Amino acid sequence: MHYVSTRGGMPRAEFKDILLGGLAPDGGLVVPERYPHLGVAELEHLRTLDYPSLAFEVLSRFIGDIAPDTLRELVARTYTREVFGSEAIAPVSRLDEDLYLLQVSNGPTLAFKDIAMQLLGHLFEHVLAESGGQLNILGATSGDTGSAAEYAMRGKRGVQVFMLSPLGKMSPFQTAQMYSLDDPNIFNIAVRGVFDDCQDVVKAVSRDADFKRRHHIGTVNSINWARVAAQVVYYVHAWARVARSVRDEVSFCVPSGNFGNICAGHIARQMGLPVRRLILATNENDVLDQFFRCGVYQVRPPAAVHETSSPSMDISKASNFERFVFDLLGRDPDRLRAAWDAVERDGALDLSASEAWHDIARYAFASGRSTHADRVQTIRDVHRRYGRVIDPHTADGLKVGREHAEPGIPLVCLETALPAKFEAVIVEALGTPAPRPPGYEDLEQRPQRCVEMDPDSAAIKAYIAARTD
Ligand SMILES: *Cc1c(COP(=O)(O)O)cnc(C)c1O
Repeated sequence: MHYVSTRGGMPRAEFKDILLGGLAPDGGLVVPERYPHLGVAELEHLRTLDYPSLAFEVLSRFIGDIAPDTLRELVARTYTREVFGSEAIAPVSRLDEDLYLLQVSNGPTLAFKDIAMQLLGHLFEHVLAESGGQLNILGATSGDTGSAAEYAMRGKRGVQVFMLSPLGKMSPFQTAQMYSLDDPNIFNIAVRGVFDDCQDVVKAVSRDADFKRRHHIGTVNSINWARVAAQVVYYVHAWARVARSVRDEVSFCVPSGNFGNICAGHIARQMGLPVRRLILATNENDVLDQFFRCGVYQVRPPAAVHETSSPSMDISKASNFERFVFDLLGRDPDRLRAAWDAVERDGALDLSASEAWHDIARYAFASGRSTHADRVQTIRDVHRRYGRVIDPHTADGLKVGREHAEPGIPLVCLETALPAKFEAVIVEALGTPAPRPPGYEDLEQRPQRCVEMDPDSAAIKAYIAARTD
C-alpha cells in the first residue's frame, strides 16, 4: 500500500512515512494510491469477527510496513473493555424498526475521536521506539480534540503533548477532563485569550521550520490519515451487526464538521462495503450541506461562523473535504489543484456546472441541516420515544437522518458524543442533566493542573524549548 498527495507533489510513501505528518509537503492531503477492495468472500469473513480482529483486518489493508503480528498486537492493546467500556467497543443498539445508533463515544473522553486517537497513541509509541525518535505534539483546542489527544498520548514513551486552550472558555467538564491529567508528558497551557489566539500561536510556531525541526514538533489534527483509516473500521463493524446478509445495504447518517468521520464512511463504501446512502448532517454552519445540495463549496469567513449548541461542528471550512473532492475529480491532481486554487482565490469552489457534479449521485451522499430548535426537539423526542438521552451533535444527525430514511433500509446514526459532555443543552431539553457514565461523577472535583500564559508565541516557544531537547 502506497500513499500519494491529492495535489500530486509527494513521492509515493509508505504508511510509517506519513503516520506522524500533517499536510503533505505540497500542501495537499495524503491519500492511498488506490483503495483496497473488499469482495463478497472477505465481507462474509469480516461479519464473523469481533472489533479488534475486524480492526486488524481492515487496517492491515492500509498498513503494509508494520509486521502483521505487531499490528495485531497494537490493535488488541488499543480496543479493550478497560478503555472503551465494553467488549463490543462500539455497540450498535436498535432504536426502532430500521433505526440504529452506533455508539462510538464510549472512550475516555466520551466522543468518537477516541476511537482513532487511542490507536494513534499506540502506533506513535511503536514507530518512535523503532526509530529512537521523539515527538512533541503541539495543538490548540476548544475542547474535544485536545482532550482526545491527551488521553491517547498520556504515558506514551517518546511523546509529549503541549496543548493550548482558551483560559475559562471551555465547559467545566471539558476543562476538568484536560486539566486533571497529571502525567508528566502532558502540558496544558491555558492561554489568556480565545480559541483563535491559541490557534494563531500554533500557526506562528509552525511557520518556524527551524524550531519545529530542532524540537521535533508535530500535530495530530483531523487531517491525519491514520485517524481516517481507524474510522473506516466502525463502518464495517456497524454494517456487519445490522445487515442480515452479505449483500444487504445499510445507510449511515453522520453529524459532520471537518468531514473526517464521514470521509471514512465514503472510503468504506469505495472499498465495496454495501452502503446505500451516506447522509451528512450539519448544524447552522452548513457549508457542506450547501455543497451536497448545490455543488458549491463556499468557505465561511471565520468571523461568520455561528457559535452553536453543537460546537464540535462549528467550522468555517472542512479540512478533510479535499479527500472527497479528489475522488470526485477522478483522482486527478491537476484538476484538484485548480479547484483548490479557486478555493484560495475566491473562497469558493463552484462545481455545479461541471462533469464531476453530473456524477455526484454515484457517491450516494444526501445532506441536511439542523438548528438549535431542531436539536432540542430531537433530544426530547428521542427521550420520549426510546427512553434515551442523546447529545446535541447526535441529535443533529438523527434529525437529518430521519428526513432521508427509506423504509426497509436500516439506517445507522453515529452517536458522536455522550450527552454528559453537553449538560446545558440537555437541561434545556429535558429539565435535568444527562446521566454520567461510571467513573466521571467527581470529575470537576479532582485537582487540576495547568500553566497560564499570554498568547505570546515567543514565550510559549521558550516554555516548550525548556521541556524538550
Ligand atoms: C469532531 C466531532 C464532530 C465532527 O466530526 P468531523 O470528523 O469533524 O466531521 C461531530 N460530533 C462530535 C461530538 C465531535 O467531537
